[in-house]
Amino acid sequence: MKSGAKITNCNELINIKMQIFSKKNIEAAKADIEAAQKVVITAHLNPDGDALGSTLALYNFLKDKKECHVVYPNNIPDTFKWMPGCGDIIIWDNEQAHQIVAEADLMFLLDFNTASRVDKMQKIVEESSAVKIMIDHHPNPQEGLCKHVFSDPEAAAASELVFLFCKECGYKLSIDSARCLYTGIVTDTGCFQFNCTTQRTFQVAGELAAFNFDRSEIIHHIYDSYSEGRMRLMGYVLSKKMVVFPQYHAAYISLTKAEADQFDYRVGDTEGFVNLPLCIQDVEFSAFFMERDGLIRCSFRSKGDFKVNTIAERYFNGGGHDNAAGGKSYKPLEEIVQRFVSLLPKITRPLQPQTKHRFVRYPKSPNPNPQKQ
Ligand code: 5GP
Ligand code: MN
Repeated sequence: MKSGAKITNCNELINIKMQIFSKKNIEAAKADIEAAQKVVITAHLNPDGDALGSTLALYNFLKDKKECHVVYPNNIPDTFKWMPGCGDIIIWDNEQAHQIVAEADLMFLLDFNTASRVDKMQKIVEESSAVKIMIDHHPNPQEGLCKHVFSDPEAAAASELVFLFCKECGYKLSIDSARCLYTGIVTDTGCFQFNCTTQRTFQVAGELAAFNFDRSEIIHHIYDSYSEGRMRLMGYVLSKKMVVFPQYHAAYISLTKAEADQFDYRVGDTEGFVNLPLCIQDVEFSAFFMERDGLIRCSFRSKGDFKVNTIAERYFNGGGHDNAAGGKSYKPLEEIVQRFVSLLPKITRPLQPQTKHRFVRYPKSPNPNPQKQ
């Protein structure tokens, strides 16, 4: 029998691009973990499913072995409050948080690459004498911040890397940790639909599936648990606030605080809104601007090889991944929107009409058997 594709052995597959987890690096990190007494695990501002998934997975593993706390710079969306260990999370404005972080002798920095991403916690994290371990998938990790850096921008999620890290360390994860990691992978890959999803991502998800938890329950928690306000806010932004620029294959949505408040806005309610315009055929670049916490939060998404992280870095004081990035500004919302609109002819040059069909959704696969044409 002739097989169409080479079947790669599972372990061989999972070892692809595993240099960051060399025996030497793993042993060094493991020794520091063993020696630590007080552990703090943190993730980026406005934690998403991957930030929560990676931190809570590690927390659920360590909490019975060490004094261990998860400390975040700000609150978590309601959507994720079902996650195992979520009730133990300490938010930075809690009095206890300062002492806990100050006393830590080991810190895990998960799902972010620079200290500025932990906002108000930046100074204490940078100045802490704790051993710091970064496990992350954003490009360009901050130099000199962590003693151990396990960074792979090709990973779909920090949760994918936390799984591989634990596997290489020989740590036996519980079903709770597996549920957390699966949540992180599902959310950062948009249910395995984004291009960041690799063979290795599926391999890790497969290993997690072997824990036999209810995977559809996780999907329901995340995607079928909207409040009525969130659902109506989504309807409002789609019908009233989305502006499409077909000539630039681009679209944006902007939202003021007053508008959000009309729909009983709660943290997390606008999660994923930036992706909505990408559902329109030929829209390949989408932005979402929102007044929040006294500043404007900017989110960018793209399809194909149009890189939004460079735009976020250059014009919106941010950064991120090739197809998902963000930034912030203290200028008024209208000014930011005007800036974005005036940038479009310049930044979307590759998307202008003459290259309209640059992004091919279903490329014809090369004929593997040309003689049989
Ligand atoms: P979101 O649009 O979901 O807030 O962010 C998408 C991605 O953009 C995040 O995973 C993160 O990598 C990046 N990102 C968002 N906000 C910022 C920011 O203010 N600074 C930097 N450097 N990256 C950001
Ligand atoms: Mn992530």
